[in-house]
Amino acid sequence: MGFLKGKRILILGVASKLSIASGIATSMHREGADLAFTYQNDKLKDRVVKFADNWGSSLVFPCDVTSDHQIEQLFQKLSETWDSLDGIVHCLAYAPGDELQGNYVDVTSRKGFLTAHEISSYSFVALAKAGKPLMEGQNGSLLTLSYLGALRSLPNYNVMGLAKASLEANVRYMASSLGPDGTRVNAISAGPIRTLAASGIKNFRKMLQTSSNQTPLRRNVTTEEVGNAAAFLCSDLASGISGEILYVDGGFNTTAMGSLEETIE
Ligand code: NAD
Repeated sequence: MGFLKGKRILILGVASKLSIASGIATSMHREGADLAFTYQNDKLKDRVVKFADNWGSSLVFPCDVTSDHQIEQLFQKLSETWDSLDGIVHCLAYAPGDELQGNYVDVTSRKGFLTAHEISSYSFVALAKAGKPLMEGQNGSLLTLSYLGALRSLPNYNVMGLAKASLEANVRYMASSLGPDGTRVNAISAGPIRTLAASGIKNFRKMLQTSSNQTPLRRNVTTEEVGNAAAFLCSDLASGISGEILYVDGGFNTTAMGSLEETIE
């Protein structure tokens, strides 16, 4: 029996088989969870429906998180099939592509800043609020995905780093706010992984190479590894963990100088 048996979990952010959300869905399905999914727009609908079928689910709903109406409708529709919900997994982020390349001060605009924060951070608390009635009394779990750029500056990550810093603060405030109801809120800070969203960051391939050279494990992590940690955090095995940012990055964040083997003399 899987350790998520009997848990009903909503996953947002499947866009391709490479998506971190897909790795999470695979792990959670393996551990016995019942899953529901969303897609951002009609272009992604058929693909997400097909993936969901592989994970034993026919619950697939539209949700562009910039729309309050769509967020409200999502939980309305979900409640027609599920009378309770044990988890929401938020695997989405966005910043305009031209702000993810070049000098941070030069390329950052008011509009890009607001968009990045709205989609990548605000949406997490918006979903928590809309999902609260279904999660009441479930001792459930909310989970989001962050990156080290929340704490440290990195080339080209730019405004997304600020949005992730906001998201991590969101995790702590949401944990404090929902904790008295028994709901836990956590994030996984994942190492770099090649996905559609990541390919929008200039020189992402170089980031992957540098990261694997400098990581204690000397390799990058996989969506399956993030998925396993996500399944754990959304399970009762993690019942004492809330407000936490768990690094699944092969240890990269713990190093200061990385490997000297790669240094040119
Ligand atoms: P991905 O492209 O597979 O997923 C990004 C998802 O965001 C897509 O499903 C897209 O539809 C969704 N999205 C964007 N705008 C949306 C909106 N307005 N409404 C609803 N959905 C929207 O890429 P991914 O790398 O799997 O990204 C998932 C999460 O993981 C993101 O938060 C990302 O920042 C985070 N993350 C990624 C990496 C990495 O290296 N890939 C590392 C750490 C954290």
